[in-house]
Order: sequence, then structure tokens, then C-alpha cells
Amino acid sequence: MNEKPDKLIDKKGIRLDGRKADELRPVKLQVGVLPNADGSAYIEHGKNKILAAAFGPREMHPKHLSQPDKMVLRCRYHMAPFSVQERKSPAPSRREVELSKVIKECLEPALFLDLYPRTGVDLYIEILQADGGTRCASITAAALALADAGVPMRDLVVGCAAGKIDDTVVLDLYDAEDKLGAADVPVAYMPSLNAVTLLQMDGILTTDEFEKAMNMAIDGCKKIYEMQKEALKTKYMVVKAEGEE
Ligand code: ADP
Repeated sequence: MNEKPDKLIDKKGIRLDGRKADELRPVKLQVGVLPNADGSAYIEHGKNKILAAAFGPREMHPKHLSQPDKMVLRCRYHMAPFSVQERKSPAPSRREVELSKVIKECLEPALFLDLYPRTGVDLYIEILQADGGTRCASITAAALALADAGVPMRDLVVGCAAGKIDDTVVLDLYDAEDKLGAADVPVAYMPSLNAVTLLQMDGILTTDEFEKAMNMAIDGCKKIYEMQKEALKTKYMVVKAEGEE
């Protein structure tokens, strides 16, 4: 984007990409896309395109990192050099190290870590194309990859952000809104347990705006949750049909 537009949302409440304030970008989910992984998922969330691959629970390497009383979840969030307009160095940036950590920590509450002592689960997240909100979309895909790997879970975890552009609280910011807007609040949520596992905030909101953004993000998570469940079912319908052939 070369110039900052005067307005990110018009008088009728329509955003630059044509969405209403409380509208999600189109989301497409697919489970079991990588035969070499124990579990995998692909998400298109607006223009974001992300692959998640899960391996394990398996023996931990190096062994000294294993825990005698629980499984260890390791997570690597990585942006491909071609995922953004200007080539991104393939080396891990501070941002990728932070996102790997927050994604791991927001997924852990969904896992029964003490069921698999001394083992590890490795989660690889590859951002093929980024357009704002990649941490949230990564969480949605990563939870599906874990479920696809057969890792027992208390609930799926869904990621969705809300924020503020100009003076309006909106759902699911894309890149330009994220960069030019006033605030971004990424949320990860376990819908069946009604538990928030990630809450970050970039920018400033009033208490009322924050409450509105939280509610919007949680509503967004609930909508994506339905799509996650459908994507899991679709994979097993295909497996079932193949088994019956
Ligand atoms: P999130 O993707 O979770 O919103 P950020 O707020 O840190 O995380 O990033 C917002 C967006 O900025 C990303 O989705 C991506 O489109 C863009 N971005 C991130 N890193 C780079 C980079 N190195 N070069 C260009 N754009 C980037």
C-alpha cells in the first residue's frame, strides 16, 4: 500500500474490502492434506494461506528436553520468504519466535499433556501467504492438525481477532486495517469450554470498545469453530467412503 486512505470504513459502515464491521473474511479449511505428517490442516482465511503439520506424540529428541511427567509441545511458526510482498528472510525473526511461543501456549490448555509423559508433539506452521491475522488463522489450523494426528483434546482452539479502524470496532482485520487501524485484539478461544487461551492487544481501546471487540472476536471464533468441525467430519467421511470401496 503506497498511500494511507482517508477512511478505512465509510459512512455506511462498509470497509475497504467491502465487508461490514462484524463480517469475517471467507474461511476455507481442509484436514489431512500432508500424507507425511501424523496430522495436518490447510487454512485460507481471507488472503492468508497457511499449512499446519503435527507429528507425535513421539519420543522426544533431544531426549534431555523430555519431561518425566508430561508431553512437551513444540511449535514453529514460519513465514515463507514469498509470503509477503517484500521478500522475508527465511531465518526466524523475533516476531516468528514470539508467535511460535504464543501459539504453543494457547494450544496447551486444550491438550492432556500428562497422558503422554516423556514424549513430544511437534507442530510446524508454514505461512505461504500473509494478509494480517496469521497468528489467529495458524491457531485454527494447528488445532485441526493436532486433532487429525489423533492427539486427545479437551476442545478445539480457534483464533480470531477484532480491533478498531477509524472510530469503529470491527471483526477480523486484514493487513491494511492491522497496519493503519487503531487497535488489534487477537483472541484464541475454546468454544465448548468457553475459555480464552490467548489475548493480546496492540493499540488503545476504551473499556467499552474492548468489551465489544472481545465479544465480536468470540462470536467470530464460534463461527469458525463450526467450520473446523465440518472440516474434520469431511476428512473422516472420505476415509469412511474409501474404506467401504
Ligand atoms: P498477525 O499476522 O498475527 O496479524 P502481525 O500483527 O505481527 O501478526 O502482522 C500483521 C501482518 O503484517 C502479517 O499478517 C503480514 O501480512 C504482515 N507482515 C508480517 N511480517 C512481515 C514482513 N516481514 N514483511 C512484510 N509484511 C509482514
